[in-house]
This record gives sequence, C-alpha cells and structure tokens, in this order.
Amino acid sequence: MRTTSRPRGTAASAGRADGIAALRARAAKARARNAGRVADDRAHRLLDAYLAAAERHGRPAREVIADLARGEAAWQIGMALHDQTMAAPPDILRNAACGEGCAFCCILSGGDGGTTTEAEATRLHAALAGRAGEPDGRNWHPEACPALDPDTRACRAYDARPIICRSFLSTDASACEANAQGGTEPGSGLLGSHLDYLAVLALIRETLKGMTRVPTYSLAQIAASAVGGADLATSLDTARHPSRVLDAACRDMARAGAAGRGRRL
Ligand code: SF4
Ligand code: SF4
Repeated sequence: MRTTSRPRGTAASAGRADGIAALRARAAKARARNAGRVADDRAHRLLDAYLAAAERHGRPAREVIADLARGEAAWQIGMALHDQTMAAPPDILRNAACGEGCAFCCILSGGDGGTTTEAEATRLHAALAGRAGEPDGRNWHPEACPALDPDTRACRAYDARPIICRSFLSTDASACEANAQGGTEPGSGLLGSHLDYLAVLALIRETLKGMTRVPTYSLAQIAASAVGGADLATSLDTARHPSRVLDAACRDMARAGAAGRGRRL
C-alpha cells in the first residue's frame, strides 16, 4: 500500500545523506534543469538557506529529506516568495482585475491544471474529500477545476489551493475568458516568483536523485479523484506525473510568453 508521509526509497539509501551538511554539498552540485541559469542560481541560494536553517535547528537529516521529497520545503520557500511579492506588490499585482466569482483561470484547458507536489496534492484532497457527489466546477464549464463551486465560482479548497493557483493573476478578466477558450490574449499568467518555486522543486529532485523520488501530480486529476470519492492513495496514483512534466513546467516558465497557465508575467 502506498505511504504518503515518508519519501520513497529505502531506509539505507536515505541514510546515505549522512547529515544535512552532505545534503547541502549534494545541492551545490545539482542543477535545476530547464529553469535557466538565473533561476537555477536563485534556487541554489533559496534551498541552501532552507538547509542551513535546518542545520542550525538541529533537525534530523531523515526528517529534512522527507520534507524535501514531499514538497513541504518547496511549499515553505514558495510561500515565503509569495509573501514577499505581496508585501511589495509589482504594478501587475496592484492592477490585477481578480475578484470573487471571477474564475476563468480555473478553467483548466488541456486537463492537467498544473504541477503540484505531494504535500499540495494531499492538502487539496483533504479539503475536497467531503465533497464527493456534489455538483462541481464542471457543471459550470466542462474543463473547470473540480474544486470550483459551480454556482458561486469560488474555490471550495481556497486555503488548500496550490501555489500555482496563488501565483495566477490578470489585469484583464476578458483576456482570461478568451484564453480559457484557447486564445492568447496578453495580461494574464503566473507571477515570475512561480519560476523560482518550480526551480527549487527541480533542484530538490536533482539533489535527491538516487536517494528518494520527488513526485509531482496533476492538480485537475487530484481534485477530480477527491470529488469522485477516491481515497488519497488512489488519487495520488491516478494523478502522478511522469518526471518530464516538471522539466516542461520549468522550461515553459523560463521562456516568457508560454501559453495559458504557463505564461509568465
Ligand atoms: S486571473 Fe483572470 S479569471 Fe482569474 S480571478 Fe484574475 S481576472 Fe479573474
Ligand atoms: S484549486 Fe481552486 S483556485 Fe485552484 S484551479 Fe481549482 S478552483 Fe481554481
């Protein structure tokens, strides 16, 4: 049976880290493939600061590896970046058209919905598990996120929404509406800090290569499984991404102008 609270890999392989100092050395040699040189450099600084803090606090390496593999570390780093952006909002954020009940960005054209970590997927599943059988976003639009309320068009998992949802914004709701139908209107997309989040995740995956896996999951698939009544283990198995998806997400974000939810503002 699938376990979700520990990283994959054998205890012996996880033990090879031999302390957080060894993890920091592994991270220094790893690369966030496809994120680009600048984002890769930032990801190194962010991850090393996280690991240095863990070292200062005397956290066991095994516990830190588990947090890295499940995406908890990337979540903490991503949320810190997000909070920094909110504290000193760029023009694009101050001019955002986003408001309650505006949900064209929750139409997940293509069906994947974006990359989430195990920690994010687990939280999203928990928030939706009690909603099985209720009408969902797909009753409003066939490609809408199943976490969406079809009547109010509010996110029913707002506090548990992944970082990709927190990073998406637009200065023009009509552009979002057009893009949800396959358009390429400017003004909507993901904050640049989302690339840092993805780069950190990619760097963690490379750091832990050969020790344990760092899986990612489809947001739309996790939400659909949860509201379909599937348990967490089944939902994670159904929604698991091939490893190339994180590479592609990094590449799309690194190339400004990628389409849809991958566009960088
Ligand atoms: S990103 Fe677009 S669709 Fe989503 S809330 Fe903002 S304006 Fe509305
Ligand atoms: S989790 Fe919530 S915010 Fe994210 S796409 Fe689904 S409904 Fe929208």
